Amino acid sequence: MPIDKTHAKIIDLRSDTVTKPTAGMRQAIFEAEVGDDMSGEDPTVNRLERIVCELLGKEAAVYNCSGTQSNQMAVRAHCQQGDEILIDETGHIVNYEQGGAAAMSGVSARTLRGRNGMFDLSDLEGKVRPDNQHYCVTRLVCIENTTNHGGGRAWPLEQMNRVATWAHDHGLKVHVDGARLFNACLAQGYSAREFVTQADTISICFSKGLGCPMGSILVGDAATMTRARRARKMFGGALRQAGMMAAAAVYALEHHVERLAEDHANALAFSDAISKIDGVRIEPAVESNLVFFHLAPSLGTAAQLSGKLLERGVRINPSGGQRLRACSHLDATRADLLFAAEAVRASLDAGLGDANTNHLAGSAYESK
Ligand SMILES: *Cc1c(COP(=O)(O)O)cnc(C)c1O
Repeated sequence: MPIDKTHAKIIDLRSDTVTKPTAGMRQAIFEAEVGDDMSGEDPTVNRLERIVCELLGKEAAVYNCSGTQSNQMAVRAHCQQGDEILIDETGHIVNYEQGGAAAMSGVSARTLRGRNGMFDLSDLEGKVRPDNQHYCVTRLVCIENTTNHGGGRAWPLEQMNRVATWAHDHGLKVHVDGARLFNACLAQGYSAREFVTQADTISICFSKGLGCPMGSILVGDAATMTRARRARKMFGGALRQAGMMAAAAVYALEHHVERLAEDHANALAFSDAISKIDGVRIEPAVESNLVFFHLAPSLGTAAQLSGKLLERGVRINPSGGQRLRACSHLDATRADLLFAAEAVRASLDAGLGDANTNHLAGSAYESK
């Protein structure tokens, strides 16, 4: 069946990475002062790095291409070849970065079975390898906030501080993958600076809820950031007139942080609406802009529902056999989210039996 032509647009809830720069952001990009960033001469990149250092209360920052690059720079900066990181089994670094830590830095991962992507002391106890030539050296604890495939949940501040204190007491470093850190701040009511007080490094994505075309930043102490900057070059990510993109990030920090509250409210409205449908279960409860919902097998598969939704002009990807993830963002209004919820209801009412799922080849189990 062709896409229903009554919809002027496709409502794309696959990810908050699908947003396009606003007119204001494009103007900021247009006006950006630039220079050669590799030589430390791009004034806008330098300004962005200062702003984020100030915001997070850290010494130094390195603007770079992507959240993956930030995370891999952090792993490289903290670890030696043969070292091991501790990370929740749902974590981005261990699942969605092509094994980059192993491939590029010779670092292995020991995964923890937390709850909704978050772990605690009981999960960490006994996970530091003894000082013995049989073992690799445990070096780094990685925390994701908000958790992505853990369910869009935000770490409570006390839990973060408990885990970070434990890590430091055991001689480990702490990296926060804060791809959606500002969503977490909003959900839990702490400031970004408060949350990362005990973190050694923090990465933030500008291309998720903040609505930039690209970019991420890694923040930490000066010595670690010097190593991270070397890693950025080695990984092919050293930049030139990157102020064009850094200007978008500065703009986003000024204009797109507080509005994340709208995304959270819209995600909740969507989840409230679909939670009333028989055979649809929201899990875990929605706390940010990510909605994970499960389909009873008697109704069909996640891929089938995704296919039927596309016919109604709504894009939501499967994130498991029976699980889907919907994501609210800057380019999706409340009306869009409610329309999408109605499309879920209508699709299930009509039945998923003959859904065409071919278009999903290669895009299922979206990681972003
Ligand atoms: C999206 C994401 C990243 C990085 O993604 P890029 O596409 O490389 O920017 C890292 N961690 C988490 C938790 C993410 O959701």
